[in-house]
Amino acid sequence: MTRSQIPFSAVVLLALSLWLLPESTRAQTPSPSEIEDPSQFSLDSSYCEAPLLITDVLKDLAHAVQTEGTEMTSPFFDDSEEVTYGDSVVALLPSELVMVDDPELEGYLDALLADLTANAGRGLKWSVRIYDAPDPNAFALPGGTIIVSTGLLSLITNEAQIFSVLAHEVGHHELRHVAAHLQYLKLLGLWTPVAQDTDVLASNTLGLLTLPTRSRQERDADSYSLEAAYRLGYSPYQMVQLMNVFDFYYEGLPSDEGSSFGTFLAQETRNLVEDHPRPRMRACALKQQIKLRQGGDEPKFYLGTKNFETRTPRSKKEF
Ligand SMILES: [Zn+2]
Repeated sequence: MTRSQIPFSAVVLLALSLWLLPESTRAQTPSPSEIEDPSQFSLDSSYCEAPLLITDVLKDLAHAVQTEGTEMTSPFFDDSEEVTYGDSVVALLPSELVMVDDPELEGYLDALLADLTANAGRGLKWSVRIYDAPDPNAFALPGGTIIVSTGLLSLITNEAQIFSVLAHEVGHHELRHVAAHLQYLKLLGLWTPVAQDTDVLASNTLGLLTLPTRSRQERDADSYSLEAAYRLGYSPYQMVQLMNVFDFYYEGLPSDEGSSFGTFLAQETRNLVEDHPRPRMRACALKQQIKLRQGGDEPKFYLGTKNFETRTPRSKKEF
């Protein structure tokens, strides 16, 4: 059949069916405003020279002891058992935290998490829940649930940033940090899943997961998150940007460092109780990793400012 012989109705039908295709299957070109401009980011890592705190050394030591402890014992539950246990912890969340009921926002975050875990190595039950607290924080709970605070969400300005937070938490799961942490606590006798009532146990788990002995694991989870950003084309620079925002939140202006004993003590105390390393140290490590990957033509990295604003995952629409 020649071109002139194709019936007009078939052409109309074809055009109509293309129009009705879901947006995600149409070719899209993101607008320039949604593409990262790396030139505005300095990868200068001069503030990486911030002196190591005594508590950093202590936390590294604690991590080394934990690693030794977990390597000496075998994991006490597999993925499906961890999911079952995680369900009991999640069921307890409303009595431990002020949970936020926002199905639209949770649906948006769940969609991002689904894209992120499409090829995950572990068979966990991935989901995101939101809790109301001013401090910016997120945690990976046993079984695959990730909880994110409203304080953290209020600091986020684009999808690349919230993606980096979720990817960091997925990193904790994929690298078996949560399972190993519980295993170690059990070894110490601080966590006894058989002897305790389920509710008490779940409550203890929430408390114990925030123990500040996980600095090294945090670095590994950050690296996992950065790799995920490169893999899915989100801007890795936005992870550094978010760390700078956290740094401002925790430490005040970068020039706010004093040398008095009082400042030193305050820094050490805060660092001791924090379950994540200081944001500027995390930003520093990320910058060094980005620098190592640079060279040749820089790929175009997606920001997703409108996606975050409208709670529309990028897999559904690129603006
Ligand atoms: Zn973490």
